[in-house]
Amino acid sequence: MKNKILVIAILLVAFYSCDNNSKEMKETKEDGNIKPIDLADFDTTVSPKDDFYQYATGGWQKNNPLPDEESRFGSFDQLSKETNQKVKDIIIGLSEQDNPPYSLEWDIEKFYSLGMDTAKLDADKLNPILPELKLVDSINDKTDVIKTIAHFHKVGIPTTFYVYGSPDNENSSMQIVFLNQGGLGLPNRDYYTTDDERSKEIRDKYILHIENMLRISGFDEETIKQDAQDIYNMEYQLALNSMTNLELRDPFTTTNTMDIDELLKISPNFDYKLYFNEINLPVQGTINLSQVKFFKNLSKIFKNTNVNIWKKYLKWNIINYAAPYLHTEMVNASWEFYGKFLTGAKEQQPRWRRVVNKTNSCLGDAVGQLFVKQYFPPEAKERMVKLVENLRISFADRINTIDWMSEETKAKAIEKLNAINVKIGYPNKWKDYEKLNIEEDYYFTNILRTNSFEFEDMISKIGKPVDKEEWFMNPQTVNAYYSPNMNEICFPAGILQPPFFYMNADDAVNYGAIGVVIGHELTHGFDDQGRNYDKDGNLKNWWTKEDAKNFDKKSQVLVERFDNIKVLPDLNADGKLSLGENIADYGGLVISYDALMKALEGKQPEKIDGFTPEQRFYISYSKIWAQNIRDTEIRRRTKEDVHSLGKWRVNGQLSGIENFHKAFDIKEGDNMYLIPEKWTSIW
Ligand SMILES: [Zn+2]
Repeated sequence: MKNKILVIAILLVAFYSCDNNSKEMKETKEDGNIKPIDLADFDTTVSPKDDFYQYATGGWQKNNPLPDEESRFGSFDQLSKETNQKVKDIIIGLSEQDNPPYSLEWDIEKFYSLGMDTAKLDADKLNPILPELKLVDSINDKTDVIKTIAHFHKVGIPTTFYVYGSPDNENSSMQIVFLNQGGLGLPNRDYYTTDDERSKEIRDKYILHIENMLRISGFDEETIKQDAQDIYNMEYQLALNSMTNLELRDPFTTTNTMDIDELLKISPNFDYKLYFNEINLPVQGTINLSQVKFFKNLSKIFKNTNVNIWKKYLKWNIINYAAPYLHTEMVNASWEFYGKFLTGAKEQQPRWRRVVNKTNSCLGDAVGQLFVKQYFPPEAKERMVKLVENLRISFADRINTIDWMSEETKAKAIEKLNAINVKIGYPNKWKDYEKLNIEEDYYFTNILRTNSFEFEDMISKIGKPVDKEEWFMNPQTVNAYYSPNMNEICFPAGILQPPFFYMNADDAVNYGAIGVVIGHELTHGFDDQGRNYDKDGNLKNWWTKEDAKNFDKKSQVLVERFDNIKVLPDLNADGKLSLGENIADYGGLVISYDALMKALEGKQPEKIDGFTPEQRFYISYSKIWAQNIRDTEIRRRTKEDVHSLGKWRVNGQLSGIENFHKAFDIKEGDNMYLIPEKWTSIW
């Protein structure tokens, strides 16, 4: 588990008018067996002018039907799955050799094999969580409640609120402690407060789910109904005082720094001095209270809720968190609600994938070291460095030529752009696992051990200068991020594989895929959220009023376009929630296109597979968003995910881009056509 710092990722984990004459087609170069542009991925029964997404990816969607265990499956997910397979092969390899006890290899292999041993998991029943349940049983008063919350945070069981270390928004070179809203069993506040039919159904099912889990955990049948209701009510109160996902996007309202005395004034009933002592952070210095209203009311909730209800709630926190890592009945019951019901998946992922995912998240750097040794060629890093620098130049050119920004703001924007730090492949220094001891007792207990290890590491950094070498994703992760506080972009080895990055493909393909991803991350520093941070990562307004107003006006085009998109007949996309990501997709598309044009300068554009480089650029972009998705998942993501759905990352964006109109000769009357006034023109 990585420190919880604000990073903006390219997707949420757990994303052609061409007369094709196949006879004349030139074969594209390949990376392994993957063709950068594969005609089988197309649906040529549809015109690129009417539904570009269907045209460019319809074949892929048809050839890759949604597996029962997935609620969404796209080329992104396919790469994650393949990467999981590679990690699995590494681990199986470890089990066939002799590893010295407590070495990294031994830790990984033990962690994994305990997770795979279903006979042992079933025989152990609730044993792995008994120590935690007993701890809750021993609670006598509110002081004990605080101590138990602190203990849970130390071992990584989510409860009540979150604590973590992150750079101070007002002094980004220092690591300070953050307190964040939390404590919910449903994904976010809206699930408890929205009044549509689906939300009501989810709440009813959730309460039944709590009952069911308490029953499996051996709670007294007579009180189970009341217990579940009490637990739900507790979460409901926390939810009522939480901020919505949209509100959380405003960094100014979530930046509230104070010292411990001020915190105790806001929250007089919860003894944070005791709490900080218990988590071994006796000297806190600056504290950032991310949601003041939440903690003000948590103080009241804490006082007004009796110890017995706290005990029920805390037990539920253990059971709910541990369920996926315990015996089969627990695992299945948890999946029925969170997997099947909430996301619409029909089957669970095979156990090996779930355990590989957990091994990746708990022992990320350990697995990462082995992964990059085997799968990350140094040449890939060299090529990426070049691509990033080309994109940086293109972005600077765009900034210099736009007409709506003052020279003053432009100078600062360029300064910020040049200061963006770039991380590629894997960290310069690996985490030292010396203090972590994986044992042979229980899968779940090892999870808690890795959580404690990460927690101590995080606490030890608070109050000190920020560690600029730290990574917030594992090398084997198929994703990328921009961090506003660090003003840095990061591309783990996992994403530097097809369909994002091909060592041997022509430029158009790479610029359309990884190039857009790089541009996406670069422009995050200048989206509706990122633009509020300066070149050093401090939350500081460096825009003139007029420029900020112009930026908002320019962005409004995207808000309106996406607000009008029907993701389902009765559901529209959320243009405001997805604005930052949509701005970044747009930025990535135009900057990378410019960089491609530069790379092609002086060379005669050559058709490959019947497509011009300009066309190949947009086809390659579409391919990274090829996906199938269930309606339930469309509903869930539209509410929760700041990223637009794959189809709209393509059609919603490209219809607003001038060069796309040119590349495929889009004209008035075509579905993909938009009048120039509605094109995006931020950069
Ligand atoms: Zn993003």
